[in-house]
Amino acid sequence: MRTSIATVSLSGTLTEKLAAAARAGFDGVEIFENDLIGSPLSPEEIGERAADLGLTIDLFQPMRDIEAVPADEFARNLRRAEHKFRLMRRLGADTVLVCSSVSPYAVDDDDLAAEQLRRLADLAQEAGVRVAYEALAWGRHVSTYEHAWRIVEAADHPALGVCLDSFHILARGSDVTGIESIPGDKIFFLQLADAPQMALDVLQWSRHHRCFPGQGDLDVAGLVRAAVRAGYDGPLSLEVFNDVFRQADAGRTAVDARRSLTLLHESAGLTAPPAPVVPTGFAFVEIATADTARIAPLLTALGFSRTARHAGKPVDLWEQGEARILLNTDTGSHRPEPSLTAVGLESPDPAGASARAESLLAPVLPRRRAPGDAPLDAVAAPDGTEFFFCVTGRPAPSEGEATDSSGFAGSPVRAGWTGDFAPAPHTPAPIGITRVDHVALTQPWHHFDEATLFHRGVLGLRPHASVDLADPYGLLRSRAASNEDGTVRIALGVGASPTEDPARGGRPQHVALVTDDLVTTVRRALAAGARMLPVPPNYYDDLAAHHEFAPGELETYRDLGILYDRDEKGEFRHCYTVTTGRVFFELVERSGGYDGYGARNAPVRLAAQHALAE
Ligand code: MG
Ligand code: MG
Repeated sequence: MRTSIATVSLSGTLTEKLAAAARAGFDGVEIFENDLIGSPLSPEEIGERAADLGLTIDLFQPMRDIEAVPADEFARNLRRAEHKFRLMRRLGADTVLVCSSVSPYAVDDDDLAAEQLRRLADLAQEAGVRVAYEALAWGRHVSTYEHAWRIVEAADHPALGVCLDSFHILARGSDVTGIESIPGDKIFFLQLADAPQMALDVLQWSRHHRCFPGQGDLDVAGLVRAAVRAGYDGPLSLEVFNDVFRQADAGRTAVDARRSLTLLHESAGLTAPPAPVVPTGFAFVEIATADTARIAPLLTALGFSRTARHAGKPVDLWEQGEARILLNTDTGSHRPEPSLTAVGLESPDPAGASARAESLLAPVLPRRRAPGDAPLDAVAAPDGTEFFFCVTGRPAPSEGEATDSSGFAGSPVRAGWTGDFAPAPHTPAPIGITRVDHVALTQPWHHFDEATLFHRGVLGLRPHASVDLADPYGLLRSRAASNEDGTVRIALGVGASPTEDPARGGRPQHVALVTDDLVTTVRRALAAGARMLPVPPNYYDDLAAHHEFAPGELETYRDLGILYDRDEKGEFRHCYTVTTGRVFFELVERSGGYDGYGARNAPVRLAAQHALAE
């Protein structure tokens, strides 16, 4: 279906909003009246600008407090409407949004409302425009779509229909199946917004916390399906009031919005983008650093060996079990500190994953390849992290040939991306790490919903509940996304202030590594010289109050800086290295189906990291 976005959903001047909407691929816009009033362009020039950009003007909005008012008040309203209808002709907009009245003069009289809307529609018809009547969830007498439709039906005028707004309908918990009994040609417009569930006054909820479909908790897709079943064939239009979008870059918001609509088409069973290709594991994690000496000793102490070097680039492959870390020194000058820059995901269909990403407007990166390289499909996430879709080749040992523990057989080629690496001599010294458990990525300030939608939609991961974590200097929000069997887990975190913005060198990221025996692994790491994050003794006193441990168990955890958590499914033991540059490592042992990330321990970890940095 055609796509549209209300200018109120984007920041900037009207000209900037139109350009951003067009660039993101929208077919049309709703012009919010205040955007027009504040623009130096005439209505004709705005119409031309939109047309030049390939945008139709699908709606002019809003007109308020029109209906069910005393006669003298209504006469003034008609005069105002006449003026606005002329303006719409100049603009080239043929539909106007009329919100249900919140005026103190409005009376609870459906017959009067229908009569006055009919007269408004007469005027509109003469001007060649039509009126879409929308029930505001906080309308004075009309606050549900069913009620708005009853009035429109009673008015029975060809230039009068309803506008359905998913926020107003779903925020009130209305049953959307009633939409199917409205004739499709009487649904003049469909405005879409999602929102997180909140216990908040509905007007404040609407004005400040709307978000794009798929980013909140409302069943927007179900509402779209009902409207389509009713026969609606107009645009799917986003009308999102949100404190963040008002100040965010319009281009970025428009892309986020367009991605949301593509995913909405998919979940509503309309047109579908290429099917999601869910990753099946981590192929590698890439750390960029100008100087490998900053991080190589830590990797060595953690039991990694430098097993290979890229044939054409200054990239080393470090391995232990199925955990692979690339150290890339080709950083330019802007990333001297070790930082997590890329994640390789094992993909059953890299080309398919890339096509999916492209259809969802994820920037597809130029393939990094040197002569002879295996091409790698990669996209950039909203936080700038590069995600590679890859296949890690398993070596096929030829007969009689010994393989070392890293899997290198000395035979020249491994299939997949590792085929670009030439084996390096090394002596494996593993400490029990088997694979990557999760990567934790810091998101740009206030772009959490965008990141979650990206990881769900583009990467095909399932988002988990969002949790708030107390940091000594602010609040962190964290939300994980994973594949079904938990072999790919990405924890997204965002700070409560702009200073946490990764672009400004904010909070470090981390890579969590799996071991089946954390105590042994940590002992070996410490013996090899790893510096682990010290945990305050008070933490262990608190732990003793909450759980019973075997004799000596808690003392061991205290000695080694191991944190502990338990849920209904199982147990979680974890600990952290100190931070190097902008990266630290976590060692984790999951047992019995524990599916979390030790969130209750995060404040202790954050405090300990601050203490160390002081
Ligand atoms: Mg609306
Ligand atoms: Mg973690």
